[in-house]
Amino acid sequence: MISPRIEIDLSKIRHNTRCLVELLKPHVITITGVTKAVCGDPAVATAMLEGGVAGLAEARLSNVKRMRQAGIKCPICLIRSPMLSQLDEIVLSCETSYNTEISVIAGLAAAAIRAKTIHNIILMVEMGDMREGIMPEHLVAMALHVVKMPGVALKGIGANFACLSDLAPKATTMAYLSTLANEIEGACGAFVGIVSGGSSANLPWALGPDSKGRINDLRLGEAILLGVDPVSGDQIGGLYTDAFTLIAEVIETKVKPELLPFDDPSPALPRLVPDTNLTARSILAIGLQDTDVTGLTMPEGVTFVGATSDHTVITTTRSHLSVGSEVKFNMKYGALMRAMTAPYIAKVILGDTPLPEPYPAKRSGPWLTLV
Ligand SMILES: *Cc1c(COP(=O)(O)O)cnc(C)c1O
Repeated sequence: MISPRIEIDLSKIRHNTRCLVELLKPHVITITGVTKAVCGDPAVATAMLEGGVAGLAEARLSNVKRMRQAGIKCPICLIRSPMLSQLDEIVLSCETSYNTEISVIAGLAAAAIRAKTIHNIILMVEMGDMREGIMPEHLVAMALHVVKMPGVALKGIGANFACLSDLAPKATTMAYLSTLANEIEGACGAFVGIVSGGSSANLPWALGPDSKGRINDLRLGEAILLGVDPVSGDQIGGLYTDAFTLIAEVIETKVKPELLPFDDPSPALPRLVPDTNLTARSILAIGLQDTDVTGLTMPEGVTFVGATSDHTVITTTRSHLSVGSEVKFNMKYGALMRAMTAPYIAKVILGDTPLPEPYPAKRSGPWLTLV
């Protein structure tokens, strides 16, 4: 079979989505499925829709176009602030976009008028992640501006947490986001329909005991795709962590002398050293040009040694990997994102298979030591 490849189990993605939709339902929070890590793969997007997401969100217009060309008709929201150079296409492909710059909103309004449509605006508020966002003290003025602008409609507000920073959101910050929605309504008279409370990092808050206030939507990518909480890295109970499997082929296996200890105090890449006696070293035909190799979860008995552009070296204790055999890996988010983007890796959609029970909520597999 073609290799390297990613096998994508759509039934697990559908299951994960359905579980999260059900978990959030009592809190009256809907899910917007985020497809950027899979480059807008239409099959994955469709599995999210079948699992019950309210709509889809993408960071890149090219991925939105890919989904539209595949016939996906649901509302799609652009979650990265639009580029001025793409506004005409954005109003044709996306019902809604997240915005922080008035010049961009004015451009979207003009593009929407040209296209004889109305484009929905969600204003992103800075809540401490320090990536995109309008400073809270400027939000109401910006909202007033948008409400008065023909061609666009103020649909809601949103915030980001634990994207650039790795700080999980606090209950007080989330309550402040709700207050801001009320303030906008008081000042503009416009109903703030969507209060989008963040990404997968916000799930522990959303499922926790604190009041949800006005937050009624979460934008989830990683939790659906990988079944984990991005902040802790822990599995979310009942979800599959192996909807995606990366498979690479062995191109060399030889017994070689044991690695000498590294004496370079600052290696360019974090490297991992085995804590077992070496028996054999194998080379996989996959490398840094394909994925974030440090984000691969090694199978039992396999230890990561190092990687270059096109090669990944592993050692094995339990089995001898013959040339031509395949090794399977689970991926962390960064590895998944880069592998899905790599043109060298085939993407193979698995047909619907009967599902085994998800693993119990604990870490599985050996953990490696970064040195
Ligand atoms: C990527 C992204 C998300 C989804 O993040 P996950 O951690 O994959 O859930 C949500 N919102 C914005 C603005 C994003 O850029």
